[in-house]
Amino acid sequence: MPELPEVDTICWRLREGGHGEPPLVGRTLVSVDVDDDAVLRSGDVAAARGGQVVDVTRRAKWITIHVAPTPTTKRTTAKTASSATAQSTRQSTIRLLVHLVMTGDLHVVPAVPARFVRWRARLDDDAWLVFTDPRRFGHLDVTDDDAPFFAGLGVEPLSDDFAPALLAGARRGRRAVKTALLDQSLVVGLGNIWADESLHVAGLDPRRALADLDDHELVRLHGAIKATLQQAIAEAQTELVWRYGNTAAPSPFRVYDRGGEPCRGCATTLSSTKLAGRTTVWCPRCQPAR
Ligand SMILES: [Zn+2]
Repeated sequence: MPELPEVDTICWRLREGGHGEPPLVGRTLVSVDVDDDAVLRSGDVAAARGGQVVDVTRRAKWITIHVAPTPTTKRTTAKTASSATAQSTRQSTIRLLVHLVMTGDLHVVPAVPARFVRWRARLDDDAWLVFTDPRRFGHLDVTDDDAPFFAGLGVEPLSDDFAPALLAGARRGRRAVKTALLDQSLVVGLGNIWADESLHVAGLDPRRALADLDDHELVRLHGAIKATLQQAIAEAQTELVWRYGNTAAPSPFRVYDRGGEPCRGCATTLSSTKLAGRTTVWCPRCQPAR
């Protein structure tokens, strides 16, 4: 399941071009069509037809494709100040709000793939933006206001709003630190992979209660989350395949999905249990219970 680094990498690829694909930003959507009715949750894709992609942004695990209406229908008068024009363009932007959920993916490609295409947009040079999704859990909303979709989401872990004090403020009850990291109303974008990896970097047992971690441990955890996500994004931008989908290659992870295998740091056999219904893996030596 794509988490923050993977979703961020798709946004980067669409914004700037990468992984051998050209950027989507700057292109006109000549047509937008839904191949699988189940993918469209709200809005009308016709609203984006003829518009120009001006930005691609991420919030939590959501991707927003910002589409400015076609200039011929929204032409501004010559006396409008340029800053006001930019403002009005931003306000009137149509947003294609995409959630990949499990197996969704977005690509700019020269031809439409034969399988798994749920919606597509023809671009001005006859290339295509395609949303593929074998498992069909991913979805699309077409809206002029994405803010309501983000209500209740916690802070972005790579933003300045994410601080050790935020974790300290969540020290209540007996929930495990791993469970707290999966709580999207506290901090967004961490799933099973990057929560386990961050806790190994921090040297913290995932079963310990967040409330029992002292201030030094929270600073360590905060730093580990930031560093782990930043490294994951850097690595994902240089890879052509999702690391978790590439079952033929050896696992690139420190602990995730490696229960029973040796720790890469100390060779101790990695432990495994379920926390909040999710398989959790840690090193009993690098991540002591106390
Ligand atoms: Zn170890």
